[in-house]
Amino acid sequence: PNLVNKIAAGEVIERPASVVKELLENSIDAGSTRIEVHLEAGGADLIRISDNGCGIAEEQMTLAVTSHATSKLPDEDSLFHVGTLGFRGEALASIASVSQMIIRSRTPDAAGGSEMLIHGGVIDPPAPCGCPVGTVMEVRNLFFNTPVRRKFMRTPQTETSHIVEAFTRIALANPQVHMVLQNGNRVVHDLPATEQIRERIRAFFGDEIASGLIPISGDNGEVKLTGFVCDPSVSRGNNRMQYLFLNGRHIRDRALQHALGEAYRGLLMVGRFPICFINLDMPSDLVDVNVHPTKLEVRFTESGRIYSQLLQTLRHKFLTSDLT
Ligand code: ADP
Ligand code: MG
Repeated sequence: PNLVNKIAAGEVIERPASVVKELLENSIDAGSTRIEVHLEAGGADLIRISDNGCGIAEEQMTLAVTSHATSKLPDEDSLFHVGTLGFRGEALASIASVSQMIIRSRTPDAAGGSEMLIHGGVIDPPAPCGCPVGTVMEVRNLFFNTPVRRKFMRTPQTETSHIVEAFTRIALANPQVHMVLQNGNRVVHDLPATEQIRERIRAFFGDEIASGLIPISGDNGEVKLTGFVCDPSVSRGNNRMQYLFLNGRHIRDRALQHALGEAYRGLLMVGRFPICFINLDMPSDLVDVNVHPTKLEVRFTESGRIYSQLLQTLRHKFLTSDLT
């Protein structure tokens, strides 16, 4: 089973940022209101994620790092896992198989916490420890036992920038959660909880971009579209400022990206890209989740309709808003 996990890890865990993404998603799923990420050496030496979520009971701990063991019911959260469905219940097992991991956790009703060490997938049984309610996941020396992967890690700066991107996507989709990112001694982001997505956008992209955004919304009965787009006349964005979320998870979708380009065609100055932060809420049966887990690409079973809805919503917006 250890070898299987190591192979799975190769699929799912490409670099430190993949670990951060998986652990952050788990912390969000655990209902946390505060999550802290601490890195050393761009995550190569240490990734520590602390949350104040529901915790893991001692008797569940071993199971949590066992392949295909998930506490998340498919009917309850199939939407949740739209980006990760291909490897549900495999993330922790994969990460634990290629690192030295410590898990400390405590549930609200437990008298104390428990701690568990996993070294290259070899699990030490959990032991009692003192800790607050919630979970701390420490991942040290990622890929220490897969030298080829370790060697292919980039500089700490490059790995950090990938981590910041993973952090940004999750922070934009979850403004109600206080999120902190610390790299060595430096606090990269400290984002207080807010009800306003625009406030979170401001924290990442600055006042000028945040203030210039136009709210959009659309609803065709099945697909609910909400978010912000830039005013074409003032756009100064680059193509890294296009964020699409499906049911609260970041996705890439070429059809939607294309729709966006179409909607803005002729409106933008050369070399500028439409900035957008768009969330789609829809039933999971309209989404084809049968795609590679790490690619973040989904297919919409009725992509044509979703495409035209986005286009219509944007056109409507631009035609009715007083743009000069
Ligand atoms: P999945 O998220 O697909 O269920 P994972 O391997 O990522 O699979 O996690 C396995 C299980 O470990 C989860 O189903 C959950 O029960 C538990 N778990 C992981 N991280 C946390 C956390 N931060 N807080 C509470 N429970 C967690
Ligand atoms: Mg998970």
